[in-house]
Amino acid sequence: MMQDCIFCKIANGEIPTDFLYNDDSLVVFKDINPQAPVHLLIVPKRHIRSINDLTGADKNIVAEMIMAGKDMAKKMSINDSGYKLFFNVEKGGGQIIFHLHMHLVGGWNK
Ligand code: 5GP
Ligand code: ZN
Repeated sequence: MMQDCIFCKIANGEIPTDFLYNDDSLVVFKDINPQAPVHLLIVPKRHIRSINDLTGADKNIVAEMIMAGKDMAKKMSINDSGYKLFFNVEKGGGQIIFHLHMHLVGGWNK
Protein backbone atom coordinates (compact mmCIF):
# COMPACT_ATOMS: atom_id res chain seq x y z
CA MET A 1 0.00 0.00 0.00
CA MET A 2 1.48 3.27 -1.15
CA GLN A 3 0.65 6.39 0.86
CA ASP A 4 -1.51 8.93 -1.00
CA CYS A 5 -2.18 6.60 -3.93
CA ILE A 6 -5.86 6.81 -4.85
CA PHE A 7 -5.96 3.39 -6.54
CA CYS A 8 -4.31 1.73 -3.50
CA LYS A 9 -7.07 3.32 -1.39
CA ILE A 10 -9.79 2.13 -3.77
CA ALA A 11 -8.32 -1.38 -4.07
CA ASN A 12 -7.97 -1.90 -0.31
CA GLY A 13 -11.46 -0.53 0.46
CA GLU A 14 -10.35 2.70 2.12
CA ILE A 15 -12.36 4.61 -0.51
CA PRO A 16 -15.73 2.81 -0.87
CA THR A 17 -16.17 1.75 -4.50
CA ASP A 18 -18.51 -0.61 -6.33
CA PHE A 19 -16.37 -3.42 -7.70
CA LEU A 20 -17.62 -5.24 -10.77
CA TYR A 21 -15.01 -7.87 -9.95
CA ASN A 22 -12.74 -8.44 -6.94
CA ASP A 23 -10.29 -11.24 -6.18
CA ASP A 24 -7.04 -11.70 -4.25
CA SER A 25 -4.93 -9.90 -6.81
CA LEU A 26 -7.08 -7.35 -8.66
CA VAL A 27 -10.24 -5.27 -8.72
CA VAL A 28 -12.40 -3.90 -11.55
CA PHE A 29 -14.47 -0.73 -11.27
CA LYS A 30 -16.03 1.94 -13.52
CA ASP A 31 -13.93 4.87 -14.67
CA ILE A 32 -15.19 8.06 -13.00
CA ASN A 33 -14.92 9.96 -16.31
CA PRO A 34 -15.95 7.43 -18.96
CA GLN A 35 -14.61 7.89 -22.49
CA ALA A 36 -16.92 5.22 -23.98
CA PRO A 37 -20.35 3.64 -23.24
CA VAL A 38 -18.43 1.02 -21.24
CA HIS A 39 -15.21 2.18 -19.55
CA LEU A 40 -13.77 -0.02 -16.81
CA LEU A 41 -10.41 -0.03 -15.04
CA ILE A 42 -8.64 -3.30 -14.22
CA VAL A 43 -6.36 -2.59 -11.27
CA PRO A 44 -3.90 -4.84 -9.42
CA LYS A 45 -4.16 -4.59 -5.61
CA ARG A 46 -0.39 -4.35 -5.27
CA HIS A 47 1.10 -0.96 -6.02
CA ILE A 48 3.11 -0.90 -9.26
CA ARG A 49 3.74 2.55 -10.75
CA SER A 50 3.47 1.79 -14.47
CA ILE A 51 4.26 -0.71 -17.20
CA ASN A 52 7.86 0.53 -16.99
CA ASP A 53 8.17 -0.90 -13.48
CA LEU A 54 7.13 -4.46 -14.32
CA THR A 55 9.63 -7.23 -13.65
CA GLY A 56 9.65 -10.91 -14.47
CA ALA A 57 7.94 -11.54 -11.13
CA ASP A 58 4.88 -9.64 -12.39
CA LYS A 59 4.11 -11.93 -15.32
CA ASN A 60 1.18 -13.55 -13.51
CA ILE A 61 -0.57 -10.31 -12.60
CA VAL A 62 -0.24 -8.99 -16.15
CA ALA A 63 -1.77 -12.19 -17.50
CA GLU A 64 -4.54 -12.03 -14.88
CA MET A 65 -5.33 -8.43 -15.86
CA ILE A 66 -5.72 -9.34 -19.52
CA MET A 67 -7.86 -12.37 -18.69
CA ALA A 68 -10.02 -10.17 -16.42
CA GLY A 69 -10.38 -7.68 -19.30
CA LYS A 70 -11.59 -10.43 -21.58
CA ASP A 71 -14.00 -11.80 -18.96
CA MET A 72 -15.38 -8.33 -18.13
CA ALA A 73 -15.96 -7.59 -21.84
CA LYS A 74 -18.12 -10.71 -21.97
CA LYS A 75 -19.89 -9.80 -18.71
CA MET A 76 -20.68 -6.32 -20.10
CA SER A 77 -21.86 -7.92 -23.40
CA ILE A 78 -19.38 -5.98 -25.51
CA ASN A 79 -17.26 -8.97 -26.49
CA ASP A 80 -18.93 -9.52 -29.86
CA SER A 81 -19.23 -5.83 -30.84
CA GLY A 82 -15.59 -5.27 -29.86
CA TYR A 83 -13.50 -3.29 -27.42
CA LYS A 84 -10.05 -1.94 -26.59
CA LEU A 85 -7.71 -2.93 -23.76
CA PHE A 86 -4.91 -0.44 -23.19
CA PHE A 87 -2.34 1.01 -20.82
CA ASN A 88 -1.21 4.63 -20.74
CA VAL A 89 2.47 4.73 -19.75
CA GLU A 90 3.94 7.72 -17.91
CA LYS A 91 3.04 11.36 -18.50
CA GLY A 92 3.79 11.52 -22.21
CA GLY A 93 1.66 8.40 -22.68
CA GLY A 94 -1.31 10.02 -20.96
CA GLN A 95 -0.97 8.34 -17.57
CA ILE A 96 -2.41 10.49 -14.79
CA ILE A 97 -2.79 7.86 -12.02
CA PHE A 98 0.58 6.33 -11.22
CA HIS A 99 -0.73 2.95 -10.06
CA LEU A 100 -0.83 0.36 -12.83
CA HIS A 101 -4.23 -0.07 -14.48
CA MET A 102 -5.61 -1.34 -17.75
CA HIS A 103 -8.51 0.38 -19.49
CA LEU A 104 -11.39 -1.60 -21.01
CA VAL A 105 -13.45 0.57 -23.36
CA GLY A 106 -16.20 -0.41 -25.77
CA GLY A 107 -19.93 -0.58 -26.38
CA TRP A 108 -20.08 1.92 -29.26
CA ASN A 109 -21.86 -0.13 -31.92
CA LYS A 110 -23.85 -2.67 -30.02
P1 5GP B 1 -4.73 7.10 -16.93
O1 5GP B 1 -4.81 8.34 -17.77
O2 5GP B 1 -3.84 7.28 -15.72
O3 5GP B 1 -4.42 5.86 -17.72
O4 5GP B 1 -6.20 6.85 -16.43
C1 5GP B 1 -6.65 7.11 -15.16
C2 5GP B 1 -8.16 6.97 -15.22
O5 5GP B 1 -8.65 6.92 -13.90
C3 5GP B 1 -8.86 8.13 -15.92
O6 5GP B 1 -9.62 7.63 -17.00
C4 5GP B 1 -9.73 8.74 -14.82
O7 5GP B 1 -10.98 9.16 -15.29
C5 5GP B 1 -9.85 7.62 -13.81
N1 5GP B 1 -9.97 8.04 -12.42
C6 5GP B 1 -9.22 8.99 -11.80
N2 5GP B 1 -9.55 9.08 -10.51
C7 5GP B 1 -10.55 8.18 -10.31
C8 5GP B 1 -11.32 7.82 -9.16
O8 5GP B 1 -11.17 8.35 -8.06
N3 5GP B 1 -12.26 6.86 -9.33
C9 5GP B 1 -12.46 6.25 -10.53
N4 5GP B 1 -13.42 5.33 -10.59
N5 5GP B 1 -11.75 6.57 -11.64
C10 5GP B 1 -10.80 7.52 -11.53
ZN1 ZN C 1 -1.11 2.46 -5.55
